[in-house]
Amino acid sequence: MVLDPPLAKPLVERLAVIGIGLIGSSILHAAKARRLAGTTVASDASEAVRTRATELGLGDEIAPSAAEAVKGADLVIICVPVGAMAAVAAEIGPYLEAGAIVSDVGSVKGAVLAALKAHIPGGAHVIPAHPVAGTEYSGPDAGFATLFQNRWCILTPPDGADEKAVAKLTEVWTAMGANVETMSAEHHDLVLAITSHVPHLIAYNIVGTAADLEAVTQSEVIKFSAGGFRDFTRIAASDPTMWRDVFLNNREAVIEVLGRFTEDLIALQRAIRWEQGDALFDLFTRTRAIRRSIIELGQETAAPDFGREHD
Ligand code: NAP
Repeated sequence: MVLDPPLAKPLVERLAVIGIGLIGSSILHAAKARRLAGTTVASDASEAVRTRATELGLGDEIAPSAAEAVKGADLVIICVPVGAMAAVAAEIGPYLEAGAIVSDVGSVKGAVLAALKAHIPGGAHVIPAHPVAGTEYSGPDAGFATLFQNRWCILTPPDGADEKAVAKLTEVWTAMGANVETMSAEHHDLVLAITSHVPHLIAYNIVGTAADLEAVTQSEVIKFSAGGFRDFTRIAASDPTMWRDVFLNNREAVIEVLGRFTEDLIALQRAIRWEQGDALFDLFTRTRAIRRSIIELGQETAAPDFGREHD
C-alpha cells in the first residue's frame, strides 16, 4: 500500500501532535509523506518517548511540553489515551492560537467532547475525530504512514461547529488516505460499542477465562491456539491503558450492548442444550455473510486464515 505523492501546497501551516504513540506517530509519518503541514511539532508526556521520537525523525520539532507544542499551531491533534484528554486540554487551553482547530483521535467521543469543551477557549474550534484504524502495538516505533489508508475516520463536530474547520479537518484525514464520515458523538459511541468496544471485552474475557481454566494446562492453550483462540489473543494484546479508558468513558453504550450480547449468548446456550441445530445453522450462515460484506468493502483480506503463510 502506498500513499499519494506529497501535496504541492500544505493544508495547514503548523500541525501539533500531542502524544507520540501508535496513532500520533502514524499521523506524523503520514504528514511527512504527504507534506500536510508547513511544519510539524510533536510532544509527549514521557521524556523517553520524546527522545525516541527525535531518533526516529518524527516531526520537524519535538517540544518539551504540550503547552509549548501548540503555540502558533493552526491544527492540534491530541493523541493520548481517552482518560488523559482533559489534562492535556487544560494544559494547552491558555496557549492556543485564536482560530486554531483542536481535534483528537480518541476511541470514545462523548466523554472527550465534554473534556475538550471544558478546557478549550471559545476562540478555538473543537472538532473531535476517531480514525477507526489501529494495531495491537503501541508507542512511537509502532506507527506507519499508511495506517489510515482506506480506513474510516469519524468526525463528531458539536452542534454549531465551524463548517470551514470541519472541511479543513476532513481534507487532512482524506489526505492521509482515510474515508471521512460525520456523526454525533453519542451515535459514534453506540456504533463503536458494538463494532469495537464489546468485541475487545469479549476477547479480553475469553483469553482470561482460558488462562484461568484449571482443567486445561496453559501449555495446551498455547499449543492448540490455532483452533480460533489465537485470533482473540491479537485483540486481547491491545494496550491496557487505552482500553481501560475506553470502558470507563463509554460505560452506558457498552453496558447496553453487553446486555443484548448476554441475552443472545443465553439463547445460543439454550439452542445447544435443546439440540436446535437449525437455529445454530441459521445464525452461522448469517454471520458468514457479514464477513463477506466486510471483505467486499475492502476492510479485510479475502485470503484464507487472514493471509497467514502456511508451509
Ligand atoms: P499509545 O501508543 O499508548 O500512545 C499514547 C501516548 O500518549 C504515549 O506515549 C503516552 O505516554 C502519551 N501520553 C499519555 N498521557 C499524556 C499526556 N498527559 N500528555 C502527553 N502525552 C501523554 O496509544 P495509541 O494507541 O496511539 O492511542 C492514542 C489514542 O488513540 C487513544 O485515545 C486511543 O483511544 C486512540 N485510538 C487508538 C487506536 C489503536 O488501535 N491503538 C485506534 C484508534 C484510536 P506514556 O506512555 O508515558 O503514558
